[in-house]
Amino acid sequence: MNGYSHEEEIMSAIRRATILKLASAAYEMDLGVMTGLLTRDENGRWRIGNQDLNTWLEKHAAAEVVLVLGSLEDEQPIQTRTCRTCGRDYTDLECPTCRTNRIRLRGRA
Ligand SMILES: [Zn+2]
Repeated sequence: MNGYSHEEEIMSAIRRATILKLASAAYEMDLGVMTGLLTRDENGRWRIGNQDLNTWLEKHAAAEVVLVLGSLEDEQPIQTRTCRTCGRDYTDLECPTCRTNRIRLRGRA
C-alpha cells in the first residue's frame, strides 16, 4: 500500500495521461519534447533520460522560447472543467465529446 486512496490514484493516472497527451500534441507540432528521468551527471550536465539537456538548450540559445516542464510525479489534483459548448464535465485538455464531434464534422482533428 502506498497510502493513496483509489480515487487519488485514478486522478494521478489521469493527470499523467493528460501531460503525456499534451507532450504528444507538442511533438506533432515539431516542438522539442523530451521525456524521461531528469538527472545531473558527474560533470554537472543535465540529462533527461539519455538525452543531453545542455546540448538541446544550447541549440536554442538566444532564441525566444517557451519551456514547459511537466512532472509526472507531482500529486497535484487535476481539475474537472465544464464544457462551455455541451455542458459536460471533463478532465481532459479539451472536451472529448466536442472534439469527437469536431473531427466528425471536419473529417480531421
Ligand atoms: Zn463539449
